[in-house]
Amino acid sequence: MHKLKTITLNPAEIARIRAGHPWVYSKSIASGDAGIEAGDQVRVVGPRSDVIGVGFYHPDSKIRIRIVRREDAPIDSDWLAWRIQKAIDYRQLCYPGRNVIRLVNSESDGLSGLIIDRYDDAVLFQISSLGMERMKDSIIQAIRSVIAPSILIERNDVSNRRFEGLPEIRHIHESSLSEEALTQFTVKLAGLTYHLDLMNGNKTGLYLDQIENHELSKPIIAAHPEARVLDCFSYIGGFSLTAAACENTRSVIGLDQSADAVRLAALNAKTNGVDSRCEFIQTNVFDWLRNASSGQPDVAQEPFDVIILDPPSFTKNRHTVDAAIRGYKELHVRALKLLKPGGHLLTYSCSHHISADLLRSIAFEASLDTHRELIESHAFYQAKDHPVVPCVPETFYLKGFAYFTNN
Ligand code: SAH
Repeated sequence: MHKLKTITLNPAEIARIRAGHPWVYSKSIASGDAGIEAGDQVRVVGPRSDVIGVGFYHPDSKIRIRIVRREDAPIDSDWLAWRIQKAIDYRQLCYPGRNVIRLVNSESDGLSGLIIDRYDDAVLFQISSLGMERMKDSIIQAIRSVIAPSILIERNDVSNRRFEGLPEIRHIHESSLSEEALTQFTVKLAGLTYHLDLMNGNKTGLYLDQIENHELSKPIIAAHPEARVLDCFSYIGGFSLTAAACENTRSVIGLDQSADAVRLAALNAKTNGVDSRCEFIQTNVFDWLRNASSGQPDVAQEPFDVIILDPPSFTKNRHTVDAAIRGYKELHVRALKLLKPGGHLLTYSCSHHISADLLRSIAFEASLDTHRELIESHAFYQAKDHPVVPCVPETFYLKGFAYFTNN
């Protein structure tokens, strides 16, 4: 018999937690056994001592308990390996045979605090809770037994680890390649070859959540003869390369403030044989759009057929939503000023706090300000390897629209 200590919840929010939400805040905790320490596994029970599950406890985190196992049994190596395998099986249903993929997406897979990405022979993992950190050896063991990658990297260099007192670290557990080669790792995906940086790149190298949307942008871009495309926040070229690979595309400009991203995007354009149509500029998108839409001579351009806005999350919490809305609004207004009549604006938000309705209303306000009539031609969504779990609304974060303008 295991001897986990018990925490009893009060009725506040218990329906949400019973329904499957893994996060328990302090206000939901009625009482707990003595001696529970940060990172410990705890049994979580309801007011009538009915077992809800087992989770990781942290007294200093806003999320006091992250429930992981929904049974009265400890989170051990065997169970973790089984749960990871289940997550992988789901991906095989969605994307049979694909090996550039997010295998585990934290709350989306019932494994709060754990991300595992695969790039062919390379597997990268990221842990953001102390309890999950204590399971690191089991996680590594599970990855080795299920995938046996020749490269295994811990990308625990994310700032949200500080909420659980964890240091930022990056460690190569195993690699058939030199560290330098890992900063320019090559994968093939959706008909394109990408060089990406497994050691320092954003996320673990690629925005895997946007891969389907790159694909979905193809027919929209291809419908414009001689398309001139502006890709704002281009990172290592996802939308830009997709656009440049469309036969009718005349030119693509990609904008990103990161020198490393711009360098890789230019290299990727070359490798894919589309560099003659692509230009990548290291700049602040807000400044570039402001200069372009006010007709500054150095950036004055003829208008674009397709403009893509894929900014980072401007808000990670409810308190900064207003500032984020102003940022999104400015981007939309500036972009619409540079869009040809008959052009398409593709706009995305990866913030959970900006709902699809809110994004739509921002586009609508920008259309009023610029006197451009918008027709919503497509709606977009995060890729299926980042599944949305209805009882955990935070798992839905990436949404987007394509707008066509007649005037
Ligand atoms: N569109 C990309 C993902 C973009 S992620 C894809 O589909 O793969 C957001 C990018 O915005 C990052 O590369 C980051 O470097 C860049 N960024 C953030 N703020 C910026 C700013 N103000 N100006 C330019 N780039 C910015």
